[in-house]
Order: sequence, then structure tokens, then C-alpha cells
Amino acid sequence: MGLQSAWEALMMFLYPPRCPACGRYRERRGAWCADCLARACAVRRLRMTTDERDVLAEAWALAIYTGALRDLVRRLKYQRRRDALAYVETFLRAAGPMFFERCLLFPASNDAQRSQKNLVAVPVPLFYKKEQQRGFNQTELLFEHFLQLHGIPMKRLLVRTRATRPQYGLSKDERKENMRGAFAVPDEKRSDVQGRDILLLDDIYTTGVTCAECARALKKAGANRIVVLALTSGQV
Ligand SMILES: [Zn+2]
Repeated sequence: MGLQSAWEALMMFLYPPRCPACGRYRERRGAWCADCLARACAVRRLRMTTDERDVLAEAWALAIYTGALRDLVRRLKYQRRRDALAYVETFLRAAGPMFFERCLLFPASNDAQRSQKNLVAVPVPLFYKKEQQRGFNQTELLFEHFLQLHGIPMKRLLVRTRATRPQYGLSKDERKENMRGAFAVPDEKRSDVQGRDILLLDDIYTTGVTCAECARALKKAGANRIVVLALTSGQV
């Protein structure tokens, strides 16, 4: 037995792979029980305010921010545990097709056509200090594998121009004020935005204020249709 596989065997013994929802033993890391996976899929179009509809064509979430998905997002975000990603990848393989079937950006298309579309995925950016602190943008990591699988390029076309306060605990008006003008498309990236359809990615969609503000900056730079794809949302 090589050193590597001996190490893996030890890790499997100490930390056996388990379903992230019910904790039952699984044969490999990243695997869910079929029932738990089906239950976690809550692919749906989110309600939007008039403000949001001005700049967003649609907003979608794939899961409710609860249970296993909430735990996985937190594990990645606050404990920097990338082992959460294998479980998210399995989830996205199951939830992804339901989104593609129903989202207006993908009318009856298959993966081959999808990759040729004038489409680019853009993650909601973190303020650079925050990203330095965390070491990554969690939204990019959550969707990276999924986008590769479907031939959708991901580009960092937005920057956060200033630090913002955490949105929780603020009223809707305070949230808007907090986020106003917080995002921009850098001049050298404007040509990548012009005339493009954008899949705006977020880990958790709460009120839509952040995504709408991102979309406003993208529209200003000439983006065509903008659809939000959030991994989770508290909105049911
Ligand atoms: Zn399970």
C-alpha cells in the first residue's frame, strides 16, 4: 500500500464519508442518499420587487437555506473546509438540469449549444480585504465545477468598490443605502460585459438588494439580460 493510499485509508477510517443531510455512511466522499438529495433540491424562481425587476430578468435559487446546504455553505465560508465542495458538486449535478430546463436564458438548449451562447457567469464579488482574509470567494468555489461541466465561462467582471456592513439586522431601506454604488465594472472589463447575457452567481440570496446593485453596475456597462443563480435562499 502506497503512502498516499494508506493516508486515505486512515482518513476514511477516522472520518468516514457520510450523507451531509442524515449522517448515514456513504461509500465515497461527496455522496448523498438519493432521498436526501431529492429533498434538498428546491429549484425555484424567486419573487422580486419592482426595483429588482428593473435590472434583473429572473432570479433563481436551487435550495432553501437550511439543513445540509446551509451547513455546507457555512463549513466552506467560516471554517474554510473545502471538503464541503464535493457534496455541493453532487447537489448541483442533481439540481442543475431543473434550472436549465426552466430558465429563460436556456430555451430548449443542450450543453453544446449552451457553451456557444453569448453567456458569461459573474460571481458577486467580495471586498478585496474580505477575500484576502478568507482566502477565496466562496461563490466562485461553489459553482466552479458546475460551470466547467456545462461549458459556461466564469469571469470576475465586477468589483466591490468599498466595504459594506453585513446586511443582516438592517431594514430594507438601510440595506439599499448600505449597498448603493458598492459595485462597479472596471473600465478594462467593460468590453466583456457589453451585449452579454449574465448569470449572476451568489451563495445566499436574501433580499435581492445586493444582486440588484450588482446588476445595475452590469447594466451600466451594457449587459444584456441578467439572471441571478443563487445556490440557496431563505425565500420559500
Ligand atoms: Zn441522507
